Formats: sequence, C-alpha cells, structure tokens
Amino acid sequence: MSEENNSGKIPTYIVIKNNQYSVECQIKRANDCQEISAFCESHEEALERVEEECWIFSGEGWICFSCVEAIWKKVVDKRQEKEDRWKEG
Ligand SMILES: [Zn+2]
Repeated sequence: MSEENNSGKIPTYIVIKNNQYSVECQIKRANDCQEISAFCESHEEALERVEEECWIFSGEGWICFSCVEAIWKKVVDKRQEKEDRWKEG
C-alpha cells in the first residue's frame, strides 16, 4: 500500500490543459452532455464552478447537469411505464 500525501492531490476527474483545470463528466450519457466544465485557474475553483452549475457528485466523479437531467427523465419514463402497466392490469 503506497502512502501518499493527499494535500493538493488532484482527483482523476479533473482535466488539466494548459495549466487550466476542468471537471470531466463521469458518464457522458446525454446527447447534449457538456463533457467537461469551463476551465479554471485551480481544480478547487473548477469544482466550485460545477457545484454552482448543479453538477452532481456520484461518489466517484461528477455528473453534468445535462446527464443528470437525462437520467432523471429515464427514471420518470420508467415510472410512468410502470404506472401505465398497473392501470392496464
Ligand atoms: Zn454529462
């Protein structure tokens, strides 16, 4: 087991490009998925930004608002299907 000093360690869902930091969408499921957030000066700032934009932390990574919406719609559709089935039965 390797012991690492975690202070300042950058999570894997952070994308670094030209010294700028962005958060990558974990699932990229929606057609209009943002894939990565806007680039910021630090990864802390990038995280604050996605929180403000209503991305959701899954425990392992971040899911962009469009994908959250896509999942939600799917859940609602499934539920509707179920209710329709009950009505028929
Ligand atoms: Zn997404």
